Amino acid sequence: MENIRSMLDTSQDEIQKIFKIQQQRQYDIGRSTAAERIAKLKRFHQAITDNTSQIRQALYDDFRKHPSETDLTEIYCITGELKHAIRHLKKWMRPKRVATPIALLGSGSYIHYEPKGVVLIIAPWNFPLNLTLGPLVSAIAAGNCAMVKPSELTLHTSHIMKKMIESLFSPDEIAIVEGGVDTSQTLLTLPFNHIFFTGSPAIGKIVMKAASKHLASVTLELGGKSPTIVDETASVSTAARRIAWGKFVNNGQTCIAPDYLFVHNKIKDAFTEQLQKTLEELYSTEPEKSESYCRMVNNRHFSRVKSYVDEAVSNGAKIISGGIFENNQNYIAPTLLTDVKPDSALMQEEIFGPVLPINTYEDLDEPLKVIRSREIPLALYIYSNSRKNIKKIIRDTRAGGTVINHSVVHFYQNNLPFGGSNNSGIGKSHGFFGFQAFSNARGIMKQELPFSGIDLMMPPYTELKKKLINFSIKWF
Ligand code: NAD
Repeated sequence: MENIRSMLDTSQDEIQKIFKIQQQRQYDIGRSTAAERIAKLKRFHQAITDNTSQIRQALYDDFRKHPSETDLTEIYCITGELKHAIRHLKKWMRPKRVATPIALLGSGSYIHYEPKGVVLIIAPWNFPLNLTLGPLVSAIAAGNCAMVKPSELTLHTSHIMKKMIESLFSPDEIAIVEGGVDTSQTLLTLPFNHIFFTGSPAIGKIVMKAASKHLASVTLELGGKSPTIVDETASVSTAARRIAWGKFVNNGQTCIAPDYLFVHNKIKDAFTEQLQKTLEELYSTEPEKSESYCRMVNNRHFSRVKSYVDEAVSNGAKIISGGIFENNQNYIAPTLLTDVKPDSALMQEEIFGPVLPINTYEDLDEPLKVIRSREIPLALYIYSNSRKNIKKIIRDTRAGGTVINHSVVHFYQNNLPFGGSNNSGIGKSHGFFGFQAFSNARGIMKQELPFSGIDLMMPPYTELKKKLINFSIKWF
């Protein structure tokens, strides 16, 4: 596999060549009108529709993802992002007038969103289509040239994306560059105008360091541990169903999956029982036979998650559901644990697999203290019907995003900024926020009248001018 892979990798020479031709072409592409960009996005949408069955097959071949799960969590996200951009791009591109302060009377100002230029997108494997092509939609909407490196772990999806993009764009505008860490590192030596990276915080730091060499701006969509609080007022059945789906969709390999739970003592038994029941409803009593339940992407990630569970169990954690591991299939049954020690890997590392630790609490301040003591999460979920508790949780924590009474669905809300904060990410994506990430907000000011207030305050600084300056400081 490694050999086949390296044969398909884009060579260093080719990478240099593509970068150069994109640099030469960037102003032609950047000059495009809203109508021209919308036409490109429409063709992009058509290509996704035309290739749906190949995309489904690729995702199945990569990690046994059910076609409906591919439709819901890969294709729908891209078509949603495309339709949103097609609908709103004209408005996004329009110059935005801003107010004029009194001291600058006689001038007019507006914000002009111009493309960053030539951008790099580096994607992860866990939603290999969605997280590669989603940022690309924003890059195209903003009028950039782009080089896109999908993950080397999901080759079937990577190939179909390459085929599709080659049929839509010439490489001097958009190019898919295949390869692994070496390819990524070669790309990172080039002076891109912007780098959009989705992946782990550890690699995010490497990307940011490389970007600093050329002072490229970055958007870092990273990961981490997203907590979920289920308080005593929550609807047990709704919480159980939505947490089970949000956690076990894509086999738990979701950056915004609920990573660990805090459940109030009053409802813990009812909730746990309901969660176990829901897992059977979603994936049957034999999830290994369920077509709806996908697999860990590879044996390295399978072994990593297994080692977390083994360590927790050897330190007293109890498996109350699942706990079945099949090495040859990278299969881990949907697993629930209680009594997990706070210092265990399961409570310290991002789990990124179908394993959910359930902690309990008596006083809401207990989970809030734990959450605040950790890195800022990418998502924080609240299951509650108490306005007071919801307000307190939002006020006393920080998170990239929060959903109340559901899990992971904010990813679909293109009117909200998506992204983390510090360790969980820098910058935002989706909809207008994605367009902004790939644009430079150029401030343009025009002196419209023959004179301005500032003209009256230029040297030499006579007594009258000093008075005028002081007057301005005091009143304007
Ligand atoms: P990763 O960081 O290992 O890899 C991501 C990309 O970086 C891949 O294309 C890979 O080839 C490249 N890469 C890996 N090592 C590199 C290096 N040393 N130098 C340069 N490039 C390198 O992440 P992953 O395992 O593919 O994905 C899982 C991680 O991504 C999780 O932490 C998850 O939370 C996070 N994630 C975040 C989001 C989000 O939107 N915030 C979405 C999905 C995944």
